[in-house]
Amino acid sequence: MSIPAPSSGPRTDLADQLPALREQYAALTELGLRLDLTRGKPSAQQLDLAEPMLALPGEGVHTDADGVDVRNYGGLDGLPQLRRIFAELLDVPVDQLLALGNASLTLMHDTFAYAFLWGPPGSPRPWGREEKVKVVCPVPGYDRHFSVCEAFGVEMVTVPMTPDGPDAEAVAALVADDPTVKGLWVVPTYANPDGAVVSEAVARRLVSMPTAAPDFRILWDNAYAVHHLTGDEVKSANAIDLAAAAGNPDRVLMYASTSKISWAGAGVAFLASSPANIAWYKSHLSVQSIGPDKVNQLRHALFFGSAGGVRAHMRKHRDILAPKFDAVNRILTQRLGDLGVAHWTVPQGGYFVSLDVVPGTAARVVELAKGAGIALTPAGSTHPYGKDPLDANIRLAPSMPPLAEVEQAMDAVATCVLLAAAERA
Ligand code: PMP
Repeated sequence: MSIPAPSSGPRTDLADQLPALREQYAALTELGLRLDLTRGKPSAQQLDLAEPMLALPGEGVHTDADGVDVRNYGGLDGLPQLRRIFAELLDVPVDQLLALGNASLTLMHDTFAYAFLWGPPGSPRPWGREEKVKVVCPVPGYDRHFSVCEAFGVEMVTVPMTPDGPDAEAVAALVADDPTVKGLWVVPTYANPDGAVVSEAVARRLVSMPTAAPDFRILWDNAYAVHHLTGDEVKSANAIDLAAAAGNPDRVLMYASTSKISWAGAGVAFLASSPANIAWYKSHLSVQSIGPDKVNQLRHALFFGSAGGVRAHMRKHRDILAPKFDAVNRILTQRLGDLGVAHWTVPQGGYFVSLDVVPGTAARVVELAKGAGIALTPAGSTHPYGKDPLDANIRLAPSMPPLAEVEQAMDAVATCVLLAAAERA
């Protein structure tokens, strides 16, 4: 869901307001604000929800439900007790799900590393021996996906996001005849930053479209699978099953983690895929590691108990987060509602709001906000190479500051959006 589109036409009415807006902005800079809406970090209040985990597993508790001594080496796949819980939540078979370290981003990075060094199953040669490797990046998207691509020298090609996920026809056209296009990033549930959820139809198209590259992969980053902001707990399409049914079982690798369920710095990351991809990943992982931190995995399994336990815990997160997202929408609507200078998403889950301002003013809005003591994600960071061709998109991350600060920050951002628009009118 999103609100009125900004147009790039002249706004003489706004130009008339320029002196008043300059005064409003000057008053804002006098307030000495220090607010940060840059990154999607959980607030301390959210981290506190898992505080009992600090006492788990507890002295004397070091075997899991299957009798494994979690203190010792081994268990490369991760603890079955925890994998069973997340297999249910992610709707994948337990034996196709690995529970690993604390960051899913590491698993995405290592997928590229292994692909570049050795090539995934079905590869004619390692990606590192190809003249060129391209990956399709839906925009707006997640800056750390772009950083992984940049680190491996991957050329990023963009397609637009739609409310149902990446523009599947645009993706299909890019991959059909060009064997250098090896991958596609997708954040299927409550995408970063626009909150879109991949529909069944889009997922079907992506997993069944013909690709010139025989080793084409979809990096299905399900970071926000259970991160609902409303009582409507939507589910994105099951791409792994759909890919298998379409005869492309190895096309999809799914990533997830408890970074925004338990603790962002001390959670557990998951990888799910086809049996062949999992065997491939493990064959390389086993050289790197004798096994993951099973003590942390047991701590998580004991704290949550079941998939239902995770869902109940996420409702506590929702109660903290939803008022902040409501405030963003309420204040932007009050201040900018029908002025035609901005539109923004009203996400039903996840961690972000995607704000589009008058084309050509996003960098100026971020600069003005900085001048007033409000740190926003740099304009352009939702696009590969940090370059938004329209200079229109800004990612807002309201999770971290307390509600009162989110309200203050959004009021200030609205003033900056208006001033930047008036300067150009
Ligand atoms: N994927 C997406 C889409 C994200 O928004 C984030 C966190 N901002 C991550 C991955 C990072 O996940 P992790 O902490 O498991 O590395």
